[in-house]
Amino acid sequence: MDASFDALMTITSRPATVFVRGEGSWLFDGHGRRYLDFVQGWAVNCLGHCPLVLARALCEQAATLINCSPAFYNAPMVRLAEALKAASGLDRSFFANSGAEANEGAIKLARKWGALHRGGAHEIVTFEQGFHGRTLATMSASGKAAWKGLFEPKVPGFPKVPLGDLAAVEAAIGPDTAAVMLEPIQGEAGVIPAGDGFLKELRALTQAKGVLLILDEIQTGMGRTGRLFHYQHLGFTPDILTLGKGLGGGVPLSALLAREDVCCFEPGDQGGTFNGNPLMTAAGLAVLEAVTAPGFLERVTATGAYLAEGLAALSRRHGFGGVRGRGLLLALDLGRPVGPALVEAALAEGLLINAPRPECLRFMPALTVSREEVDSLLATLDPLCGAVA
Ligand SMILES: *Cc1c(COP(=O)(O)O)cnc(C)c1O
Repeated sequence: MDASFDALMTITSRPATVFVRGEGSWLFDGHGRRYLDFVQGWAVNCLGHCPLVLARALCEQAATLINCSPAFYNAPMVRLAEALKAASGLDRSFFANSGAEANEGAIKLARKWGALHRGGAHEIVTFEQGFHGRTLATMSASGKAAWKGLFEPKVPGFPKVPLGDLAAVEAAIGPDTAAVMLEPIQGEAGVIPAGDGFLKELRALTQAKGVLLILDEIQTGMGRTGRLFHYQHLGFTPDILTLGKGLGGGVPLSALLAREDVCCFEPGDQGGTFNGNPLMTAAGLAVLEAVTAPGFLERVTATGAYLAEGLAALSRRHGFGGVRGRGLLLALDLGRPVGPALVEAALAEGLLINAPRPECLRFMPALTVSREEVDSLLATLDPLCGAVA
């Protein structure tokens, strides 16, 4: 397909490739060329491209009921909420269409909770380099340096502290604070773990101070780190949790979950035309069933370790700065700003990878990626790394 792209708004610079088909870890362009995909829609296609269970669930639901309005209950919506409750330890869900929308809902819920239960507290302590989405409030909650000065004035009430600095969090919590919000591993920042020790201390601190802990697991949730949710590595439950990306396995579905006593929305406070529609929630059910099937998460952990080992060997060979992350959310620290050049060279070799920052590469393959596909990634990447090192 020789296309002109002029009818699309420019929101990012894309390669001139037009993708037409996907299968597992592979994407195909209009010329029949195949690409090994370690981006997977930014950690969205957790079961790979067009998995049969998802295609089947969507087809069956599309032929049964697509949308009956958020003013009515539908069967997949109710079932998914029940399944998430059982899996997460949190009591109630609100479904939405994007991660940003789920986080926007979390912010509103925390502000309402603060208004009702903490004397009008409305501030949410957030973290430098954090990423929570692209609506105005979630951009304001994000700590992306490049967004400073953009779309001003931002939504107030999101003081920022450095990740890992418990004393700074403690100092930032005051009478106006309703919550602390963070990603357990900062994804867009370049796969920067908050650290298990810090997360546990933060849970204790928020409890001691009587403020809510909001975990944005839009990138780390749904098995990405080898547990269904990242906080399950740590043995505590947040007060509010947001999910997106992998939850729909590729279709637009996100969720805001909370503990019973935090669920203070009243009719009219929150909603949305498409929220909880049966087509998307049926997809979510199919994904959740696949990810929680016996042995699935153990395989994510094993494949993640295999990929991490391979990347660590690559790092040693080329004098890079090592590997970070967990499960199948990993980054290779390049130690120099050659990420974009590597992404471009990899594309030419039929390999899709991502550089969230110029000095690192991020790997977020399908959770079903095979060892052979990992070997293929490493074999393609090795000479390219040699060329830039
Ligand atoms: C992708 C992402 C978001 C935003 O999700 P959208 O679906 O793009 O709105 C929010 N938080 C985190 C941690 C993310 O990775």
